[in-house]
Amino acid sequence: MVFKETDGQYVAHTYGRFPLEIVSGKGSVLKDVSGKEYIDLGSGIAVDSFGVADDQWIAAVNEQMCKIQHISNLYYTQPCAELAKMLCEKTGMKKVFFGNSGAEANECAIKVARKYAADHKGPEYYTIITLEKSFHGRTLTTLAATGQDQFHKLFQPLTPGFVHTPANDIEAFIALAQKVKPAGVMMECIQGEGGVRALDADFVKGVAEYAEKNDIMVIIDEVQSGNGRSGMFYSYMNYGISPNIVSTAKGLGGGLPIGACLMDEKTKDVLGPSDHGSTFGGNPVCCAGAISIVSRIDDTLMAEVKRKGEIIRNILKDAEGVEYVSGMGLMVGVKTVKPAIDVVKGCMEKGVICLTAHELVRLLPALNIPDDQLIKAVNILKEVCKQ
Ligand SMILES: *Cc1c(COP(=O)(O)O)cnc(C)c1O
Repeated sequence: MVFKETDGQYVAHTYGRFPLEIVSGKGSVLKDVSGKEYIDLGSGIAVDSFGVADDQWIAAVNEQMCKIQHISNLYYTQPCAELAKMLCEKTGMKKVFFGNSGAEANECAIKVARKYAADHKGPEYYTIITLEKSFHGRTLTTLAATGQDQFHKLFQPLTPGFVHTPANDIEAFIALAQKVKPAGVMMECIQGEGGVRALDADFVKGVAEYAEKNDIMVIIDEVQSGNGRSGMFYSYMNYGISPNIVSTAKGLGGGLPIGACLMDEKTKDVLGPSDHGSTFGGNPVCCAGAISIVSRIDDTLMAEVKRKGEIIRNILKDAEGVEYVSGMGLMVGVKTVKPAIDVVKGCMEKGVICLTAHELVRLLPALNIPDDQLIKAVNILKEVCKQ
């Protein structure tokens, strides 16, 4: 190992890193310091939408980098305006706030829901309902939103005003909503970190209908599932609902840090001057990268994402040591008989990078991973899953 030790000495130990030092790559193939190649089924956790060192993305980012890298939100920049327009045209949403991460996108979404409720119903309507096993980020507020107890213990007190309800239980949701004076309900249509689980359509529709009737803001967290990963531009589009607020990040910038909070007709003017802000938010280089990503997420690519997802499912269904395959499109969970972490380590030895999500192996390959690389990697995974 070349820089593992320096990292271990000087970088905070917040990550359980694998002993892998990646230095370069192209598309879905990564190279480590020794020159060993890996097929990447993780995309830097759903971030490198078109793999690494993608030519189109590099050209877009370079071009903007050479013009101007940052100018602050006191002035207008073209990439920011254009990206916002593009996201609205793709979704029917009306306005966008840009931040730098998923957690920040969710912070914005929560602020919008709370201010809307305060303006329209009264300040006592501040509670946000989220789902058990959800993941919404690492800030004190988005940790409070995250419906997993293990994240809550160490940093009390978290931001108050969050309650959790089991996924796919509409009665429990309605009972809770009647009890707590909610400002909003926030959910991932396909839960990611919590175990790659697509919510039941009846539940998602039921929540959206109840929320609309009662003017509770529907916030959909598309940080992981968004930007083409599910086979639709945003995963909620698979469910036929119209959220009031959508948050996204990860794959949006194709590898540069950018998050976005999209607001609908009801919520687009909730935030006014100085209600919210971010120094780096809407950074022109990040926005230029994001434009190059979003402009490629079209019907043809979405058909490809679905087809490639089916390739994975076909190889793994009925495979020895595989209990079931979950998720949607190129957001795939694999319940293995062996512990997921052992499968991930076994794959790494054989030159394939995949992820875990709780007790599942998680696959989030680049949206354009070539078929031959995908088939080769998933067959290696299949071998590793065998007892
Ligand atoms: C990763 C993730 C977040 C947090 O994003 P960061 O960019 O790490 O802050 C929030 N919600 C979901 C669904 C995620 O997968």
